Amino acid sequence: MNIDERVVASIVNAVLGRLDDVSSPAAEAGGGNWGIFESMNDAVEAAAAAQKKYINCTMHDRAAYVQAIRDVVLKQENLEYISRQSAEETGMGNYEHKLIKNRLAATKTPGTEDLTTDAMSGDDGLTLVEYSPFGVIGAITPTTNPTETIICNSIGMLAAGNSVVFSPHPRAKNVSLHLIRLINRALAEAGAPANLVVTVSQPSIENTNAMMSHPMVRMLVATGGPGIVKTVLSSGKKAIGAGAGNPPVVVDETANIEKAGKDIIDGCCFDNNLPCIAEKEVIVVDSAADYLIFNMKKNGAYEVKDPEIIDRIVKLVVQENGKSPVTSFVGKSAKYILEQAGVHVDDDVRVIIAQTGEDHPFVQVELMMPILPIVRVPDVDAGIEMAVRVEHGNRHTAMMHSRNVDKLTKMAKLIQTTIFVKNGPSYAGIGVGGEGYTTFTIAGPTGEGLTSAKSFARRRRCVLVGGMDVR
Ligand code: NAD
Repeated sequence: MNIDERVVASIVNAVLGRLDDVSSPAAEAGGGNWGIFESMNDAVEAAAAAQKKYINCTMHDRAAYVQAIRDVVLKQENLEYISRQSAEETGMGNYEHKLIKNRLAATKTPGTEDLTTDAMSGDDGLTLVEYSPFGVIGAITPTTNPTETIICNSIGMLAAGNSVVFSPHPRAKNVSLHLIRLINRALAEAGAPANLVVTVSQPSIENTNAMMSHPMVRMLVATGGPGIVKTVLSSGKKAIGAGAGNPPVVVDETANIEKAGKDIIDGCCFDNNLPCIAEKEVIVVDSAADYLIFNMKKNGAYEVKDPEIIDRIVKLVVQENGKSPVTSFVGKSAKYILEQAGVHVDDDVRVIIAQTGEDHPFVQVELMMPILPIVRVPDVDAGIEMAVRVEHGNRHTAMMHSRNVDKLTKMAKLIQTTIFVKNGPSYAGIGVGGEGYTTFTIAGPTGEGLTSAKSFARRRRCVLVGGMDVR
């Protein structure tokens, strides 16, 4: 009998999950089960006890624990399992792209090297300014990048000396808990204090609220939509808010249009448009529009021209309030969306494009699915102004394809986004084919930008009075 490899992998992982439920000395160390607790209070208290022990570990230890997280995620069977489960459990995105995103989070999230020390010396002695942990951090993670965010937050928060209590999205519960168990086992094998990374067995809004109000949680980090960002910012605690985006792409007549067409489709269809940085609407100068559309089609775009079909898709994918996407369509493929609207296309269709006006819901709503509206403008200045309007002041991400340095600079100054990609796909902004490290927590509202270990640390000054120099 031939059994599909995927079936074997899921049986193995299910058995491993069961084994986790059997008590083991290491898992029992903090009263939890490889970091999974029945009550939020127990989870937070265990994380607080772990952090107290962690304070006495060396920077070398911290680096080793961070490496253990990277290694366990990069183990091929784990990488494949969490990527597949993440897509299957949430019903969003696709396996191949989740593999890339999880690998990216494990390899390019900065570790302890991010924590640089400032020193000042003079006649009065020596002063050091160092990055010090907050203590226990409460981290809320989204459905759209459930495992990527846990990997990237765990690395950065532990590198900075904290422990972390995760509140995963309930729709990504199983894969999030599985990953947290894997991380705990890897940390135990590396000799780390138990329970540096914890969560609860039943993630829920009630448990998230209990976590946010727990006095032992010193910092909150929310990666999600506007609701949860507002909630953490109203908590009275130090909070990082990584909120929604609606990234526009502006294309002018000076751009390399062939490359722009390909870059836009590559960025837009990545993980079925789930990333908050992915291209959500195109604004193109009229004289370049036809050739851009031609090149987008050459790279897997399918243009819907019939207004009736466009309306049908709007009714399917936009909620009646006209402000939010219909969850069951978020992260679905272009082919699936078209099929629900009665249009049958080949598997190579990656993105649905449609020419619309600025007010169209495809432009205004953060859809997070591979539907890309194209709006024509008379000139680049009108395009930049429109991009600023449709980004809705999120100050998250924007792209521009142009060879006109003055216009690139003008857009950068006016739009004020955390990430501004010039002449590349959106994912260049998180270190894929663009310079720089990666993160899946991009904090526009609170200003940390692309978060890294130092975002999760406090600046503390240590002053030694009296001569301390070699001059
Ligand atoms: P979401 O806001 O629905 O959920 C995010 C998290 O917040 C989940 O864990 C959810 O359970 C929790 N949550 C939401 N409302 C809550 C409440 N009232 N009380 C307690 N917990 C609550 O978002 P989502 O659909 O999972 O993710 C998509 C959104 O996140 C998009 O808007 C996207 O742009 C944004 N996002 C931003 C970034 C970034 O780095 N800026 C990264 C990923 C996703």
